[in-house]
Amino acid sequence: MAHLVPKPVPRASAESRPFWDGVQERKLLLQHCRSCGNYWFPPSALCRHCLSPQSDWREVSGRGRIYSFVVYHRLYHPAFEQDLPYVVAIVALQEGPRLLSNIAGTPWQEIRCDLPVRVAFGDDGRGMMVPQFSICDE
Ligand SMILES: [Zn+2]
Repeated sequence: MAHLVPKPVPRASAESRPFWDGVQERKLLLQHCRSCGNYWFPPSALCRHCLSPQSDWREVSGRGRIYSFVVYHRLYHPAFEQDLPYVVAIVALQEGPRLLSNIAGTPWQEIRCDLPVRVAFGDDGRGMMVPQFSICDE
């Protein structure tokens, strides 16, 4: 559905560009430490566990659980008027990092902490692909 006011789009930084490039190809990529194997998000130059600068980007499972969430009933930006109420959740990925995202496709009344989710990419009227999550089986 077209929005009269476009939704704000994320702006990639030099450090986050591989993440957003992956999302445009429907891939969820996270930084991975070549020294200790840690995954982390948001992107940064050094591993958050061992401070190694040696990292690469790896596609991850896209699966996790809802760690926490809020339901937005109030309009804070006109572009989101047709989405009200909508869920903003912290998703704990199987690989460890937590992402702030939306839970799509399930009525907000049915959202609970610890429900299993998987990544579901969509442009959501923003003109660029963004990662969202949907409830899934274990
Ligand atoms: Zn490390």
